[in-house]
Amino acid sequence: GTAIAFEHVRKVYVDGSVAVEDLSLEVREHELLALVGPSGCGKSTTLRMANRLVEPTSGRILLGGEDVTHADAVGLRRRMGYVIQHVGLFPHRTVAQNVATVPVLLRWDRRRTTARVEELLDLVGLDPAVYARRYPHELSGGERQRVGVARALASDPPVLLMDEPFGAVDPVGRRRLQSEFARIRRELGTTVMLVTHDVDEAVRLGDRIAVLSKGGHLEQLADPVQVLAA
Ligand code: ADP
Ligand code: ADP
Repeated sequence: GTAIAFEHVRKVYVDGSVAVEDLSLEVREHELLALVGPSGCGKSTTLRMANRLVEPTSGRILLGGEDVTHADAVGLRRRMGYVIQHVGLFPHRTVAQNVATVPVLLRWDRRRTTARVEELLDLVGLDPAVYARRYPHELSGGERQRVGVARALASDPPVLLMDEPFGAVDPVGRRRLQSEFARIRRELGTTVMLVTHDVDEAVRLGDRIAVLSKGGHLEQLADPVQVLAA
């Protein structure tokens, strides 16, 4: 089935800049769709319209077939994990408390939350006994991104939105994070929409790649092998 559908979506910012002119695009359930294209072509805008951090000017967005264009944005965000480049962990909260953010909002009981936090830290390769009580400033860049991924996955959202998630990590650490992430998301079956300017990353991680040009124009939508050949 279709996880997310953009139908003739357009975004004009208040200053008049047309970030996305008329985009129609579908993300299939359980796939990782990578959005690539030059800086300023509308990738982040597109991603952020999916969870309404950016309000589309016109067009429709459907989530699992449901029209969410005008749905409650807070409810929508709880159904989608979101990971960005500088992950924005809460600095005065421990790793465990950061990962527990959404479960606490959803009022899970303490046992379930604690068990989930430990499971997720294991999943992203951080030993809970070592990391749960640390604060973000006590972590490396790569470890912070891992915590960001764990936090985004805490409530097992069907959809994960990622905007340059590994961009701030050094090249060696990035490779490792990418392959671990590939394993995690296959294991969980999460649908992922990944924004990157790094074609290599898109090819390594993507089931399909959407190539955008300025104004959010969809130039190509293909599997990695076809994109490499083009
Ligand atoms: P990308 O993620 O591909 O780099 P963006 O979606 O960030 O592209 O930006 C697309 C276009 O929209 C760019 O021309 C950018 O300058 C513009 N833009 C992005 N955010 C805003 C904003 N908040 N206000 C006005 N223009 C914006
Ligand atoms: P508090 O830590 O005071 O209970 P928070 O609401 O800040 O309150 O923490 C949210 C949740 O984070 C806790 O209920 C717990 O489930 C989880 N948590 C906190 N510390 C740990 C830890 N060391 N290991 C695993 N989970 C933890």
